[in-house]
Amino acid sequence: MSLENVFVFDHPVIQTKLAELREKTTDHRKFRALLNEIGSLMVYEVTRDWPTMPKQVTTPLEVMTGHVLARKVTLIPILRAGLGMSDGMLRMLPDARLGHLGVYRDEKTLQPVTYFKRLPPDIAQTEVLLIDPMLATGGSGAAAVSVVKEAGVKNLKFVCLVAAPEGIAAMQKAHPDVSIYCAAVDRELSDKGYILPGLGDAGDRIFGT
Ligand code: URA
Repeated sequence: MSLENVFVFDHPVIQTKLAELREKTTDHRKFRALLNEIGSLMVYEVTRDWPTMPKQVTTPLEVMTGHVLARKVTLIPILRAGLGMSDGMLRMLPDARLGHLGVYRDEKTLQPVTYFKRLPPDIAQTEVLLIDPMLATGGSGAAAVSVVKEAGVKNLKFVCLVAAPEGIAAMQKAHPDVSIYCAAVDRELSDKGYILPGLGDAGDRIFGT
């Protein structure tokens, strides 16, 4: 498996939270809290190469040049599980706009079907983070990236929690220019499309359904 353009967070604090989150006895309240905490922590590295611009700041003592993000930020959770991670990321990026994308790959035609899309009008000029905790087959993730690219976005990253090798390969094939950030690369996909060992259905565990 190639890990080109894949960034795996091996940070001990993230790994500790991930282990707790995978545990089947973790209820939806704790699952949600852990997922958002991991989302917050991931922001630090995901945004590391974003350009900044100088900004004059007046401290109580003197004027100095600070540095602030050069571009606006758009977070796009892919419905529905992406919502479980976006609040935590928003906490670190409180000025970000929030787009929403509901997309899946039609099993017969294999074409992406967008069933919900609300994106900021100036999205093309922003830094975009597409968020989905589980990169499983990569079908909906790759489709979501296509939708965002069609909106003119150039600065785009894909942030997930757990990735399957199959999902990484699919994303690399469809979008070799898009970096993938995750907390773990798991062993494989089951024949039902679950990531193994994984954490089960992320949406159900977030929302208690
Ligand atoms: N989506 C999930 O929520 N879990 C998986 O294991 C795979 C896809």
